[in-house]
Amino acid sequence: MIILKGGTVVTGDGKTVLGKGNVIVTEDVIADVTERYDESIEAYAEEVVDCDGKCVMPGMINHHQHGVTFGPMFASGAENYGCNFIMGHLDRSLLQGHTTVLNVDGFVTMDEVKETQAVHPIRIKTATTHAPVNYRAGEICDGKGFLPKHKEMVAERMIADGAVCIGEVGGGHTLGGGGQDYLYIPRAVKEMKGRDIDYLQARAMKLSVLGRYIEESFYNKDTVAQTLKDNNLDSFLTPEETKDIVYKTTLASVKVALDGYREAAAIASRLQVPLMMHNAPTSRDIVHEIVKMKIPNTIACHSNYLFTMEECVENGKFLKSLYPEIILDAAVHDPFGAKKLVATPDNLYAFYKNDLIDLISTDFAAGSSDSMLEAIQHAALEEKIVPFAKAIAQGTTNVTKALPLLAPNLGELKKGFYADIVVSDYPAIKNVNRVYIGGKLVAKGGRVIR
Ligand SMILES: [Zn+2]
Repeated sequence: MIILKGGTVVTGDGKTVLGKGNVIVTEDVIADVTERYDESIEAYAEEVVDCDGKCVMPGMINHHQHGVTFGPMFASGAENYGCNFIMGHLDRSLLQGHTTVLNVDGFVTMDEVKETQAVHPIRIKTATTHAPVNYRAGEICDGKGFLPKHKEMVAERMIADGAVCIGEVGGGHTLGGGGQDYLYIPRAVKEMKGRDIDYLQARAMKLSVLGRYIEESFYNKDTVAQTLKDNNLDSFLTPEETKDIVYKTTLASVKVALDGYREAAAIASRLQVPLMMHNAPTSRDIVHEIVKMKIPNTIACHSNYLFTMEECVENGKFLKSLYPEIILDAAVHDPFGAKKLVATPDNLYAFYKNDLIDLISTDFAAGSSDSMLEAIQHAALEEKIVPFAKAIAQGTTNVTKALPLLAPNLGELKKGFYADIVVSDYPAIKNVNRVYIGGKLVAKGGRVIR
């Protein structure tokens, strides 16, 4: 028996915060959550942890992470970053207070999940996008992480073997994001004209032809001519050539990726499992199309990402108007620490203020994502733009409801539930002191215990 005594206890049910509560653990489950207990039981405890000035809560369930298994990464099937990175990334995740992590690199196989799980205490689950059109979209874009076993795998088999949902369908690379700017467009210009261009020139070409929402109808010869002039490209490229290059390098692969959304939606609806979709400006229209199909447990991922603040709020409200049951995920990314991908938490805060958040997750942010607890600390306990109990539920109980196979009997401090528990400072909840998984102490004082 372990007794976590006298802390601020947030149970994860979305309502309950006990000012001075106790959590009692026996073996791998929670035996009781109380405001009072008979102190004579302490004689039977292996450990009594004084949690005065601390917060005791369920482990966070991070349902959107990349690079957490030994398989291919992203919708583009890229090579993973290697064993050291993956182990470090899992350690970092655990020390941030996440006790379950959902891998959304959809081409990973179950043996790769098991290999990773065998060497790390954090609970690892996976999503799947194993299907021909999605595979083709990855291959066109990158596909360097693909082995024959990835191509042979099918989503049906993955779900039967324990994958919890279809996803993440779509992604930055397959939808005409960064890869086009630094690789595919410069290469095509070099082949056609023998000239080197940089990624900013390539991006300007792409945006002038297709716009931010990647639309074929966006093309206007005069706009492209002006862009070529502004970017010193007009001496060797005409608007028509620019259009050809951008259509070939970007639009062609985007079209396959968009068909990948339709394929994934069909599988999710046939197998009756949740669907996770990359939701960003380049996939805005296809996300609308799929949401209109009203497939239960459809999650629009990182809905606060890459849009302007006004756009993300407007789009979130619009998605809710199309289908009130759509599940909106807000991603933390890295606005408090690294600030490499997202410079400010403005979009995240706007989502909180407009009550648009069903779930939160970290997303990848180049491996430097801030923790869910850090976002909750700032939003709930400092800015006070969301009630604390509600904010915790968005990373625990709400996640278990949206993804029923991800973390059964987890996400809440409740009698009979598995004892995945985080003890942190209070109110500075981003400072995690202890992490228990299934009643076992797996991290303490910033170190993972193996
Ligand atoms: Zn994504």
